[in-house]
Amino acid sequence: MKVREVKIGPLQLGGDAPVLIQSMTNTKTEDVKATLEQINALCEVGCDFVRVAVPSKDTIKAFKEIVKSAPCPIVADIHFDWRLAVEAIEAGASKVRVNPGNLGGLDKLREVARAASGRSAIRVGVNSGSIGRDYLAKIQSGEITKAEAMTRSAKDYVDFLYDSGFYDVVVSLKASDIPTTLSVNRTFRQICDSPLHLGITEAGTAFSGTIKSAVGLGVLLLEGIGETIRVSLTAPPTEEVKVAKEILKATGRRKMGPTIISCPTCGRTEIDLYTLATQVEKLTESIPEDITIAVMGCVVNGPGEAREADIGVAGGRGAGVIFVGGEIVEKVKEEDLFERFTVHLERLLQEKKQKDALK
Ligand code: SF4
Repeated sequence: MKVREVKIGPLQLGGDAPVLIQSMTNTKTEDVKATLEQINALCEVGCDFVRVAVPSKDTIKAFKEIVKSAPCPIVADIHFDWRLAVEAIEAGASKVRVNPGNLGGLDKLREVARAASGRSAIRVGVNSGSIGRDYLAKIQSGEITKAEAMTRSAKDYVDFLYDSGFYDVVVSLKASDIPTTLSVNRTFRQICDSPLHLGITEAGTAFSGTIKSAVGLGVLLLEGIGETIRVSLTAPPTEEVKVAKEILKATGRRKMGPTIISCPTCGRTEIDLYTLATQVEKLTESIPEDITIAVMGCVVNGPGEAREADIGVAGGRGAGVIFVGGEIVEKVKEEDLFERFTVHLERLLQEKKQKDALK
């Protein structure tokens, strides 16, 4: 099904647009300075737009200031009180995230849509707590599954908004287990054209949450499902963005920044590859260019991979060979390897920029 295009500020979500990355601040919204610092840090590592909690009326003033100074579109996260959603829209939110199940009725959702019309998108968040009463009874009688009830509830909310003349709708269907997340999103994509926000709720710590997100979101992204993703980790929000970027690169859904190929090391490893690979990863994490970098430990498999990459290093005894564009450009002592790699990388990026400018 062709996915509807929705605007998030100046950004396009859905249609033919690349999958967008989002995250959420964990500072107190009232602390405008700290929140803006975090938003800037998120944008620097590749976040496209950021969600900020608006838990009470007291936070609206701060929210407005944040929207005004933020370098990216800001989404207001609203629960329970539809009036807060309206105020956040008036304060400049590019999107409001609501859970219609806890807004207090469809008439409240209509009020939010009325305020958002022509100004802001609405994300309809559906979890097992937002299933309509009729569907709950059907689940109890065994007529439908919980996953079916979630997709039908989400479709009802979208139909309600479309029937009210509001089309800038994004949907998220969240479950904390992966099989249900896959099932609800696959089914929903077949019955509705709204862009889908993908996420695994409460995914966990940086280690386990990264794995869970890569598996759950990765499967859907490989099937072409999902127009924006949020990786939720019990870790600093910038880590979420870095993981999201890697998932999008690995699934081929978005080209963004370098892909690093590094070997796992073995008994043949001749150099301190852990240190070198970590240094290269750090050096290149904010580079936007879509290039391949190989960091390999020995002369057996190293030169092959390094030759195929845009730039590569293959370790030898106490030394290493640097490849650029498939050719050896320099052989250097191990202690100089990172420094010389940096020089060649800068040169490569400069040349790439010049070539791109001539296109
Ligand atoms: S590239 Fe060399 S050092 Fe690295 S894992 Fe393969 S054989 Fe071992």
